Amino acid sequence: MITASNLENAVYEAHRLAATVLPTDVRQAFERMHQRETEALPQRVMHEILDNVGIAETDQRPICADVGVPRLYVVVGDKCALADGFVEFERAARMATAQITQDLAMRSNRCHPLTRENPGHNVGVFAPNIEYRFEPDVDWFEITAVHKGGAFGSDFRMLVDGDGIDGVRKGLLDAVAEFGRRGLTCPPVMIGVGLGGTKDQAFAIAKQAAQLRPVGDRHPDPAVAELEDELHELVDSLGLGAMGYPGTGGYATDVHVEIAYTHSALTPLGIHQLCQAARRAVIRVNDDGSLETRDVPAWFSGYSRREGLQ
Ligand code: SF4
Repeated sequence: MITASNLENAVYEAHRLAATVLPTDVRQAFERMHQRETEALPQRVMHEILDNVGIAETDQRPICADVGVPRLYVVVGDKCALADGFVEFERAARMATAQITQDLAMRSNRCHPLTRENPGHNVGVFAPNIEYRFEPDVDWFEITAVHKGGAFGSDFRMLVDGDGIDGVRKGLLDAVAEFGRRGLTCPPVMIGVGLGGTKDQAFAIAKQAAQLRPVGDRHPDPAVAELEDELHELVDSLGLGAMGYPGTGGYATDVHVEIAYTHSALTPLGIHQLCQAARRAVIRVNDDGSLETRDVPAWFSGYSRREGLQ
């Protein structure tokens, strides 16, 4: 049985790792980009980014002074048993978020949108956001903490049939040109594209695609995987490097596309860019209460992308 105390420890640890340790796949992608870069300025920037990542991990300090917006993605095993229930998990998640804010001296970014009153612990109305999904035949409870920064770089548009794939290409290039070339997205970024579903779904799956899939991962649908490769090449062909400076190292660590079945005449398009402080950490709580650190979230699976009636 998994207790509320196990879950509070897990959320705390997921937040601590997200804030201070860059995921291995992202760090390795940055190293490759640094090696590929031939222009002096973005090469220097990549060097500083990698240096900063090392210091954050060693000194246990947030990767960026802007700690982003802490949020949680939870995959609940269909066979998992919570001794204290889900409401106790949500209480534990709020307590752990406040505690890590204090312990790591993280900036409290969450404030009241009208009064701007800031409680000082990154917890408040609908904060931290928690998204859930279920996974069949497993008994664990997996928590992914993401501290997403980057106020810029997100976009949405409604495509009609005639727009076709060109509409996707144009939408993505417009978003990169608008924000990325001015350095406002703090590149290198991980790009998530959400295609289809309803408007809110397109936006949500784009964000999940940017945050919850590792560099190099490809969608199981070959047509979507081909589009991911093409869009990545397209974005990098703009000649932007680290922080938007002209360069050869690349703008995006990767482009991930998620699809959802949509209205037959319309295709919503959502775009998100996860900045160089790509803060993502996964802790799985096993049925005996033990915690396990994992590299890649189980958020996307054959089950979550299922088709058909059953
Ligand atoms: S976009 Fe990312 S790297 Fe840039 S200031 Fe915000 S959190 Fe930091």
